[in-house]
Amino acid sequence: MSKKVAVIGAGPSGLAQLRAFQSAKQKGAEIPEIVCFEKQSNWGGLWNYTWRTGVDEYGEPVHCSMYRYLWSNGPKEGLEFADYSFEEHFGKQIASYPPRAVLFDYIEGRVKKAGVRDWIRFSSPVRNVEYDPDTEKFTLTVHDLEKDSVYKEEFDWVVVATGHFSTPNVPYFKGFERFNGRVVHAHDFRDAREFIGKDILIVGTSYSAEDIGSQCWKYGCNSVTVSHRTAPMGYDWPDNWQEVPLLTHLDGKTAHFKDGTTKDIDAIILCTGYKHHFPFLPDDLRLKTANRLATADLWKGVVWIDNPKLFYLGMQDQWFTFNMFDAQAWFVRDVILGRIEVPKDRDVMLADVADRVAREDAGKDAHDAIEYQGDYVKELIAETDYPSFDVDGACEAFYEWKHHKAENIMTFRDHSYKSVITGSMAPKHHTPWKDALDDSLESYLQN
Ligand code: FAD
Ligand code: NAP
Ligand code: MG
Repeated sequence: MSKKVAVIGAGPSGLAQLRAFQSAKQKGAEIPEIVCFEKQSNWGGLWNYTWRTGVDEYGEPVHCSMYRYLWSNGPKEGLEFADYSFEEHFGKQIASYPPRAVLFDYIEGRVKKAGVRDWIRFSSPVRNVEYDPDTEKFTLTVHDLEKDSVYKEEFDWVVVATGHFSTPNVPYFKGFERFNGRVVHAHDFRDAREFIGKDILIVGTSYSAEDIGSQCWKYGCNSVTVSHRTAPMGYDWPDNWQEVPLLTHLDGKTAHFKDGTTKDIDAIILCTGYKHHFPFLPDDLRLKTANRLATADLWKGVVWIDNPKLFYLGMQDQWFTFNMFDAQAWFVRDVILGRIEVPKDRDVMLADVADRVAREDAGKDAHDAIEYQGDYVKELIAETDYPSFDVDGACEAFYEWKHHKAENIMTFRDHSYKSVITGSMAPKHHTPWKDALDDSLESYLQN
C-alpha cells in the first residue's frame, strides 16, 4: 500500500506543501499520496475573507482574522514566490502593497496552475491526531461537516499548517463588563466604517494596532488612542492620534491609564496578539512556543524533535511569509522523500534549537531580526531544489520598508520596490493609500 501524508490546513503554508510535492512529481519523482484537510470551504487560510465573526455556518470557530480594506503591511517584493512571480500571475508588474483580494488571487493562481485542488478535502476540520509507535502510523479523526460524519484515517506523516494568528489572546481589564460600547479583539474586527466619528481605544503596539488604528483613521473615526504595555510605537502620528501608557481600568466610558490620565472612549479594540492553538493535538505532539523567530522544539524550525514524522510549517513570527513557507515546505517534502536525513541523535536536534534561540536573542533590533530570518530562508533553500533567489535583496526591501514607515507612517504604502524574482521595478500605485478607499482587485489593477 502506498504511503500517505496528511497536510492539515490549506492556507499559504499548507498550499506551499502541496505545490512542493506536485513540483517533485512533475519532475518525475514518485511521491506518497497527499491528503490535505481544510476546515474552511475554500483555500487561502487567513486570506480567505469572511464577514462572519464568532462561529461559521457549522458552528466552527471562524479562522479569518483579516478585515475589509486590509492591504499588505509589507512590500510584496519580500514575499514573492520564487517559482511564480507577480508578473507571471498578473501579466504585468503591479504596485508594491496589494490589498488582500489581490494577494488572495496571487496565492490561488499558483495552486490552480499546479492543479492540486483535488488533493484537498474542504469543510473537514481535523479533530484529533494519535500516533501508534507499534505501527508507526498516525490516526487522524476528521469531521466531514457537509455530511456531518466523523471518520478516522491512517497516515505515515503529518504536516501541521494551521497557522497561529487566529485564536485571539484576550486580556481582561477592570470595568470591561460595565463598558457601554464594543470591546472587540482584532480577530473580530471587520470594517473600519463601524467606527466613523468614534473615539477608539486600541490596546497593543504591534502590526494589528498600527494597521487597525490607521484603517479607522483613514475611514474617519474621531480619534485614536493607543495604550502600550512595553513602549509606544513612536511614529509621527496624525493630530487626532495619541499614544498613552497601559490601561488600568474603565469607569463607565472613561478609560484610566497608568500615568493617571484619562480619556472618554466609545469602543475598545484589543490588538493583543494570538495564541498558538492546536486543540486537535495530544500533549506529546503539541507545539508549545512563544511567537518568536526561533520556535521551541522544532529541528530546522519544522521537524518535531520527539517524533520526526510530524512537521509544523509557518509557526515562527513572520517577517518573511510566503517564500519562507515555501522554503520550509520544500525542506519537509525532501525529508519525507528521504532526500534529507534527520539526525538520529535527539541531542543534536535540541542543540540546533538552542543555537537558533541564542542567535535570535543576540539580535539587537528589527534589522537583525530580518537578517536572521533571511538567513534561515537561505539555509533551507540551499538544501532543496526550491529556486534560489536573492534573499539579501528581499531583506533590502524590508529595510527600506522600515525606513519608509519611520519617515511617514501614513504614506509608506505609496513606495515601490524592485522584484528579486524578475528584476523589474514595481510601478507607483495610481492613488495614495490614504485616499484609496476601494480595496477591490479591479480598482488596484487599473492603470
Ligand atoms: P493560515 O493562513 O492561518 O492558514 C491556516 C489554515 O488552516 C486555515 O485555512 C484554517 O482554516 C486551517 N485550519 C486550522 N485548523 C484546522 C483544523 N483543525 N483542521 C483543518 N484545517 C484547519 N502576511 C503577509 O505576508 N503580508 C500581510 O500583509 C499579512 N497580513 C496579515 C494580516 C493579519 C490580520 C494577520 C492575522 C496575518 C497577516 N499576515 C500577513 C501573516 C499570515 O500569517 C500569513 O500571510 C499566512 O496567512 C500564514 O499562512 P498559514 O498557512 O501558515 O496560516
Ligand atoms: P503581535 O505582533 O503578537 O503583537 C501583540 C501585541 O499585543 C504586542 O504589542 C503586545 O505588547 C500586546 N499585548 C499582548 N498582551 C497584552 C496585554 N495583556 N496587555 C497589553 N498589551 C498586550 O500580534 P498582531 O499585532 O496581532 O500581529 C499578528 C500578525 O498579523 C503579524 O504577523 C502581522 O504582520 C499581521 N498583521 C498584518 C496586518 C496588515 O496590515 N496586513 C495587519 C494586522 C496584523 P508587548 O509588546 O508589550 O508584548
Ligand atoms: Mg536550492
